[in-house]
Amino acid sequence: AERLAATDVTAVFRGFQQAVQRDRDLLTDLDTAVGDGDHGTNLDRGMRAAVEALDATPPDTPGAVFNLVGRRLVSTVGGASGALYGTAFLRAAKAAGAAPELDAAGFAAVLRDATTGIAERGKCAAGDKTMYDVWTAASAAADAALGDGLAAVLAAASIAADAAEQQLVPWQARRGRASYLGERSEGHRDPGAVSSRLLFDCFAAWAAA
Ligand code: ADP
Ligand code: MG
Ligand code: MG
Repeated sequence: AERLAATDVTAVFRGFQQAVQRDRDLLTDLDTAVGDGDHGTNLDRGMRAAVEALDATPPDTPGAVFNLVGRRLVSTVGGASGALYGTAFLRAAKAAGAAPELDAAGFAAVLRDATTGIAERGKCAAGDKTMYDVWTAASAAADAALGDGLAAVLAAASIAADAAEQQLVPWQARRGRASYLGERSEGHRDPGAVSSRLLFDCFAAWAAA
């Protein structure tokens, strides 16, 4: 598949909701170690609400799907991740505009703007050991694979996201609750990085299906 239509993006978000539900306890356990132990329940609640909204009023463009999911996450997830994922998807919606489909270049552009949105909202930079590290790695890989088509872009983003999540484990967290631990954050996986990795894996799984 070389283009993402609204139904495709919706299918990816359904997959993400199922992945978050499956890994809810893992995400919460990771957040118990470095934060306040709510990341799995936060994101599970938000994605259930997002999928309910998609079912109730199926959007007809990728941009409208991102917009609905973003708005739902902002309104149902109280924590940092609700604002961060919400901002990412609202920026994605803006970048996608009214286009009926996203091709490789369109998706890479959407991912770039979404990633910038996380940095602005989180006041974070690469190396701070947050979900942003995973998004920025995925976005760079997507840009590098642009000429090879959408499936290659999504595969590259997912591989880069997985690698980034693993790479930041030994680092010290500089943003979010985990940063309160200082050096004691070293050696722990970042919950938001792990959930972000799940999202990119879902895009790649759609492309491979
Ligand atoms: P909260 O910390 O409010 O309980 P969550 O537990 O749902 O929110 O999400 C925590 C995740 O959010 C972290 O693992 C990290 O990836 C991300 N995060 C938190 N603060 C920031 C920030 N300032 N910039 C980027 N990402 C952040
Ligand atoms: Mg938390
Ligand atoms: Mg919290």
